[in-house]
Amino acid sequence: MSYIVTRRQILMLVASQLGMLWLATQGFTKQPVKDGTMTTDELTVRVFSIEKGTYIEVRKVVRSEAEWRELLTPQQYNVLREEGTERAFTGLLLDNKERGIYRCAGCGNDLYHSDHKFDSGSGWPSYYQAVAPENVATRLDRRLFMTRNELVCSRCESHLGHVFDDGPQPTFKRHCINSVSLTFHPLSGL
Ligand SMILES: [Zn+2]
Repeated sequence: MSYIVTRRQILMLVASQLGMLWLATQGFTKQPVKDGTMTTDELTVRVFSIEKGTYIEVRKVVRSEAEWRELLTPQQYNVLREEGTERAFTGLLLDNKERGIYRCAGCGNDLYHSDHKFDSGSGWPSYYQAVAPENVATRLDRRLFMTRNELVCSRCESHLGHVFDDGPQPTFKRHCINSVSLTFHPLSGL
């Protein structure tokens, strides 16, 4: 009898441990990393605006899936909201050398400056830093059983791409970004 109780207790313990592990994994995978960009009410975010030349406080953009589908093309929806990846060497902004700002295709947040773009040879637009650290957020992407830092827009949490540690000076970072996550705005037109 005592053997049965003990075994049941062990099974219950294992089950509860597995349940906690599952909860921890789920929470860990989807939660954006808190990096100080969130304000106390979490409805606004502090980002740098190139046009204004300073930091601004903007409302976070939260839309229903139906609204996102209405706003975005099917390819944009797949990449921005379903964490898809465009095929390498197909993006319209891959070889763009014009001077300007790359904004989020989901909400218009300034993400990258042409001064920080470089040719990585990867097939996706690459930047060695964002407009400001606050303008993009990272979260862990463990879907492929690899730890890759996923990049999302800090204002609307749309998927942008991934960041790697093999970039050029001065940051040695490579922000590998899908073209469809971006819209380009020439600086001369602002
Ligand atoms: Zn955005």
